[in-house]
Amino acid sequence: MARNATTTVWITGDQCTPLNSALAGLDRERTTVLMIESLARARQQPYHKRKLVLIFATMRGFADDLRHAGWNVDYHAERDDFATPLAEHVAQHRPQRFRTMAQSEYGVDADLRAAVAKHGLDLEITPHANFISTAAEFAELFARGQARVTMETFYRKMRRKTGLLMDGNEPAGGAWNFDAENRLPPKKGMRFPPEPRIALRPHARDAIVLVEKHFAEHPGTIGTFDIPVTRADALAYADDFFAQRLANFGPYEDAMLAGEPRLYHSRLSPLINVGLLHPLELCERAELAYRSDRAPLASVEGFVRQLIGWREFIWQVYWRLMPEYRRRNALGADLPVPSFYRDGDTDMACQREAHATVRELGWAHHIVRLMILGNFALIAGIDPQAMTDWFWFMFVDGYDWVMVPNVIGMTLHADGGFVGTKPYAASANYINKMSDYCGGCRYDPKAVVGEGACPYNSLYWDFIARNEERFAANPRMSLTLRNWRGRDANVKAQIRARAQRLRDTLRRGGKL
Ligand code: SF4
Repeated sequence: MARNATTTVWITGDQCTPLNSALAGLDRERTTVLMIESLARARQQPYHKRKLVLIFATMRGFADDLRHAGWNVDYHAERDDFATPLAEHVAQHRPQRFRTMAQSEYGVDADLRAAVAKHGLDLEITPHANFISTAAEFAELFARGQARVTMETFYRKMRRKTGLLMDGNEPAGGAWNFDAENRLPPKKGMRFPPEPRIALRPHARDAIVLVEKHFAEHPGTIGTFDIPVTRADALAYADDFFAQRLANFGPYEDAMLAGEPRLYHSRLSPLINVGLLHPLELCERAELAYRSDRAPLASVEGFVRQLIGWREFIWQVYWRLMPEYRRRNALGADLPVPSFYRDGDTDMACQREAHATVRELGWAHHIVRLMILGNFALIAGIDPQAMTDWFWFMFVDGYDWVMVPNVIGMTLHADGGFVGTKPYAASANYINKMSDYCGGCRYDPKAVVGEGACPYNSLYWDFIARNEERFAANPRMSLTLRNWRGRDANVKAQIRARAQRLRDTLRRGGKL
């Protein structure tokens, strides 16, 4: 290729990062950035309206940033699909080569390559810039032929690689993980910092109009749109987290409270996953807070582990095991997604609260996702692929790469134990301890049998019974199995009969 070749860099909706690797080393005079809003792509799943607003508005704002930085941008707003604007772009700009940063979703690189090939051009793909680990680093951990590696092993490798929270070769504070300090239940009368004021930017206002026009039937409400859509606003939002919330994030990260969806959580994941913030810059700021005594190590380590531990681990699992991984269903779960995951109409107070939050914000914090929404799907036996899709389209930070390992693996144990050695299954006991939901519920969190018993209880024990043979081979489940086996036979029969009625109701599409 001649040195003066003109280049098109194709940037898609979740690649709005100033570190986009496809731009690296290019001459701005001889490069055009192509950005296309495809309505067909946005209809592939019934995405939450706020998610579509976030992506369209961020793309428009990022195009402005690129223009201010001297790039030529060919932006196609509100188009039916990718193919026609791509053809128009090629006809007008006549690029000699095409580049794009690696897509985050399996199979899309090949789709883009095929689309560009129709115009007789190759597509060069550069590495994804919003992750710090590589597939080779992940693969090294399997060198001795292990079938799986734990997140903890991978996380320590990432700590050493980045130097985050390291004192020489040792972890800061003498331990890698301070989770034991991070499991406090909520306290009565807790007060939380107010939400930072994020002005509604013109691109967000326009994107709201677009979404209401084309996607009125999609789930969720837009409401007061308070998600940053520019890098400047994203940085201000992060400032607020570090100043107001990080110190208490760790101890209360598993707590849940009615009417308080955020508590001390950062809500930065939508901004990281769309490209506005980089995980490393956030981890460095968190470490600075610890080193300058503004936040305790347990909070900072918990935050850093979410980003360079879990987030990177999930990314690597996705790319190592796709596409087969998405089809896994090790526990043979086959119920449809319950009706209340669409309309929130249920007598279960914890579920009602979670769905109200998700409809309003397109977000809920990780324990609500894992132990209310996910745990119920696990113990009831909801189809893993349908559940993965639900989490993907309902959450503003949800993408295929995030949700496949998180839902198939961590949440539903449908991968047979690759991501987690033990299913995250719990009865009402856990929910009652970590939240205030049960006080406002018509079900009894302490009852295991009877029509007033909390559905989580009957379903939990029935889940253990349904999978007794499989779990017998898992030493981490032995205590639970002993507990089940030691129960009175009559009680066990009642639990199973009640669970069967609940599951039959769900199979018919009824509510609980
Ligand atoms: Fe949820 Fe059961 Fe508690 Fe009701 S009693 S809020 S269903 S855990």
